[in-house]
Amino acid sequence: MAANGIEISAIGIDPADFDSILDIRYNPSSGLPFSSSARVEYSELVGAPSSVIRVEDKVLLVCDIGVRSKTAAVILRAQGFPQTYSLAGGADELLRLKAMSGPTGLSSGEAERYDRQIRLSGFGIEGQKRILASRVTVVGAGGLGCPALSYLAAAGVGTISVIDDDTVDMTNLQRQPLYGTQDVGALKVEVAARRLNALNPDVTISPIALALTTDNAKDLIAGSNVVIDATDNFQARYALNDATVELGLPLVYASVYAFEGQLAAFSAESGPCYRCLFPVDPSPDAALDCSTVGVLGAVTGVLGSLQASAALQIAGGVNHDLYGTLTMFDARTGLFDRLQVKKRDDCVSCG
Ligand SMILES: [Zn+2]
Repeated sequence: MAANGIEISAIGIDPADFDSILDIRYNPSSGLPFSSSARVEYSELVGAPSSVIRVEDKVLLVCDIGVRSKTAAVILRAQGFPQTYSLAGGADELLRLKAMSGPTGLSSGEAERYDRQIRLSGFGIEGQKRILASRVTVVGAGGLGCPALSYLAAAGVGTISVIDDDTVDMTNLQRQPLYGTQDVGALKVEVAARRLNALNPDVTISPIALALTTDNAKDLIAGSNVVIDATDNFQARYALNDATVELGLPLVYASVYAFEGQLAAFSAESGPCYRCLFPVDPSPDAALDCSTVGVLGAVTGVLGSLQASAALQIAGGVNHDLYGTLTMFDARTGLFDRLQVKKRDDCVSCG
């Protein structure tokens, strides 16, 4: 039972913990919140508490949404009834939790852990169940991959494949917060899997210590519901794009450059794809990476988080307007720009 001062959470509550449970709802349309609860008028309880409860009793008050019961609990404590508690969220919260239980529902542990996203309009229990059943593949466990992986695991994505053949380097630590000083030299996917499992033991992490290439891309991502491109090189990026188009999988791309970053989500079913945006490999001069131009770690955090946000909406079945758009972020102004990406008829991948 989670107690937060005067409020008691409805999740995991045991009515037997209380000497008395008092129902002070305005218009109790449904039955009693608990079989052991008794009806009492708010005015009677607050006006003459000694006629209803004893000083030594542990008392739980239940109203409609948890506001009047909390007010009453504060008043009663001031009047010398120190063990008076309020049910957070009231009877409405009990009904909500009841609706979530049952054979097709979530466990009480899942309901509590994911409560704040289940409350989201357009997400709900069905969205959470889709997230729990989903598989997301993250290619690259670096500056973008670390925040993306953390939020995916925290949100309860059922299976997360993480693909990277790199080891942790001291220069990574400035922007890759899944790794610590003691991890230098270790395989990134192994350290990441350990950290993510500690973050949420209910998700399955599948670490793959390979570089993604044209030859293995399709095998590595097959069966995913969403693929995240958190790579740092163009060969892997094009290989990944072509494989998602061929397999019909949604792709969430991002990249960072110094103080700037960009994000795009592609639906393989309708196009456009990454090649529609960037049809040809940039010249070697243009393909500067973090080791050449530098990068602010917090900027990779912004873009990696945006990738997780997009992937969770796609996997959760949320109505979104992300496909076929390119979002550009400049940390020096704090501004986001967005433009539509046009599908190219002559695209070698999706055309
Ligand atoms: Zn294309």
